[in-house]
Amino acid sequence: MMQKPLTSEELRELTVGLNKLARNIWWTWDQGAQEVFQELSPRGWQNLYHNAVAILREVSDYELRVRLQDAVFAQRVRQVLREFQGYLGEEATWGAEHAAQLRHNPVAYFSAEFGFHETLPIAAGGLGVLAGDHAKAASDLGLGLVGVTLFYREGYFQQTIDSNNWQAEHYTLLHPKNLPMEPVLNERGDQLVCNVDIGMNQVAFHAWRVNVGRVPVYLLDSNRDENEQHFRDLTLRVYGGDSTTRIMQEMLLGIGGVRLLRALGVQPAVFHMNEGHAAFLTLELTREKLAAGAGFEAALAQTRQECIFTTHTPVEAGHDRFSPDLMDYAMHRFRTQIPVPFHEVMKLGRVKPDDRREAFCMTVLALKLCRSANAVSELHGRVSRHMWHSLYPDKPLEQVPIGHITNGIHLIGWMKGTVRRFWRRKLSEEGTGAAPSGQPASAPDWQRTINSPEFWARAADPAFLSDEELWALRYKLRRELIEFARRRLLIQHHSLTHGDFIEYDHLLNPDALTIGFGRRFATYKRAPLIFQQFDNIVRLTRDKTRPIQFVFAGKAHPRDDAGKRYIQHIIHLSKFSDLKGHLVFLENYDIHVARQMVSGCDVWLNNPRRPLEASGTSGMKAGCHGGLNLSILDGWWREGYDGTNGFAIGQDAHADSVEEQDRQDSANLYRVLTEEVIPLFYQRDSHGIPRQWIQRIRRAMLTLVPRFTATRMVKEYVERYYLPTDSAGTPH
Ligand SMILES: *Cc1c(COP(=O)(O)O)cnc(C)c1O
Repeated sequence: MMQKPLTSEELRELTVGLNKLARNIWWTWDQGAQEVFQELSPRGWQNLYHNAVAILREVSDYELRVRLQDAVFAQRVRQVLREFQGYLGEEATWGAEHAAQLRHNPVAYFSAEFGFHETLPIAAGGLGVLAGDHAKAASDLGLGLVGVTLFYREGYFQQTIDSNNWQAEHYTLLHPKNLPMEPVLNERGDQLVCNVDIGMNQVAFHAWRVNVGRVPVYLLDSNRDENEQHFRDLTLRVYGGDSTTRIMQEMLLGIGGVRLLRALGVQPAVFHMNEGHAAFLTLELTREKLAAGAGFEAALAQTRQECIFTTHTPVEAGHDRFSPDLMDYAMHRFRTQIPVPFHEVMKLGRVKPDDRREAFCMTVLALKLCRSANAVSELHGRVSRHMWHSLYPDKPLEQVPIGHITNGIHLIGWMKGTVRRFWRRKLSEEGTGAAPSGQPASAPDWQRTINSPEFWARAADPAFLSDEELWALRYKLRRELIEFARRRLLIQHHSLTHGDFIEYDHLLNPDALTIGFGRRFATYKRAPLIFQQFDNIVRLTRDKTRPIQFVFAGKAHPRDDAGKRYIQHIIHLSKFSDLKGHLVFLENYDIHVARQMVSGCDVWLNNPRRPLEASGTSGMKAGCHGGLNLSILDGWWREGYDGTNGFAIGQDAHADSVEEQDRQDSANLYRVLTEEVIPLFYQRDSHGIPRQWIQRIRRAMLTLVPRFTATRMVKEYVERYYLPTDSAGTPH
């Protein structure tokens, strides 16, 4: 059949549409959209690290127009754009039904980091990834929410490993023009500029908007000519610099963030502080009320009614504390706008308000000036109530007003393309779910389906998905990871010139039980724990019939030498010990590497020093890919594990001393590995299928995947914290 050429009007529509699509990271969780960019330049897709904006800059207008004369391709683009428009314009959302008032007065979600996608590396770890997933799920639900963070133009560091196996940090400049972000303009079409008082200066900043589906996230940027260099560099790096930089970054985020929203005419109903970094926003809200004539106590009370706070860690160093001198210095100008003695402000950040030597703690400020506070898992809630009990001396421990909402992940965003295609094909084959038989579900239907317990109940049913199909999927994903690792290691080792030669195409065994560990190398996460039983582990990796192997990755904080020593140790083992060939370390752990690992590994290992892993989320990403967790009963896993859906290391308890705990956990880990994990994985029937193993995967899909989603999490935030509380403002 002859195709009519596209008219120039149609061409313009499609090219404009594609440019808009590239600047809304919705495309990262729509497989059809992603494949359009991928197809435009397969090589660019790899080299530009999956950057849709950069691909559109790479492909000339002329090429794009010619490519769109391919009727099949044009039809796909049209379809994707239709779904995108449908998504943006959808009226009957969960948010419209359950939280209509938040559409006019949204939730303002403040976070020092947001992890959206590998091309915008402005997150250091799980906290940022969680914030990104929160925004994506809020968008999917049609919830009124705006995000606020900083635009770190050098982002978080890129990791390489030097010839001493020591982590080196590299920073590259991010170019907004090449990223899915747009300048925030005023009504005259000029860049919107706001000010915030920091130290003795007025610091100017502008902002960028990242479109996260329907949710805007604003990135504040102080890199302006009129600012002194050290103020311009406040938005240089994620958690960069010393505590002076840190307090100033936090003033920009909290105070500047409120000012930006006011300048944009956004009047939030709720300010959600994701971690204490943003807690200075409470002082700005108080200042506004004082300026409008309220008294200090009344202003604090009103502010409290607008704010909620999520605490994310029981690790001491995770709670920012600033000395009275530093507060004095950083607030030199701002404090003059709060017409009470500064001592009264300092009291807000102290456990003992009248102890003038006590440092100012951002978590204390947030707790004192919020209407409700929560931790991120049940155990973390208990630990947090204990930790902050002294702030509520007249309350018994169980009544300390810190509840919990267990974290979740943006499921569709974390699914690897292979798996999105797999589930979508299965859905359309069966003609189940929202789609009529034989037709793929539309994007919104499919997104809703994939989040539903009903879908995962069906997925876990052998009548829907046979053991053979599931095992074939596992094999495919494991091979994809191994080939990814081989490619990465080839590049990694090329940059070094040591004479040690590894045959990359034979590295790792596609048939072996593959155990993954990928996360920040904070020492409490104990990356090297499993290698404490070194000789035993070597024996397991070299077993001819039941081999195991390891894929590790993770960054240590630039100033964490202990974490860097862990990395050094593991890389040393991977290169120079008997584990060589059975253990690899992938450099530069980020969202992309994480996705490869959580999808390809058979077992996701998590062995933090309990109870320091407040929730953990990386293990939640394994389930939809058929991966199983092997984890200490800490954070989310303590709630998720039921004896049939993965593996537990030790009990729902921990020893008092760190040494004893490490010793017990190491022994328990080895025991579960040899008595449960390995036998189950290698127990094959006459067809070569590990039926019992697959049964565990089914249990994980049924019981974990739909439960630990960001959709469930955001709904809980809405129902319990975002919507107006009773006049007492009773927190959970
Ligand atoms: C999911 C994720 C995390 C969080 O992992 P935890 O196991 O919870 O520490 C950190 N970094 C990246 C890149 C992730 O994708």
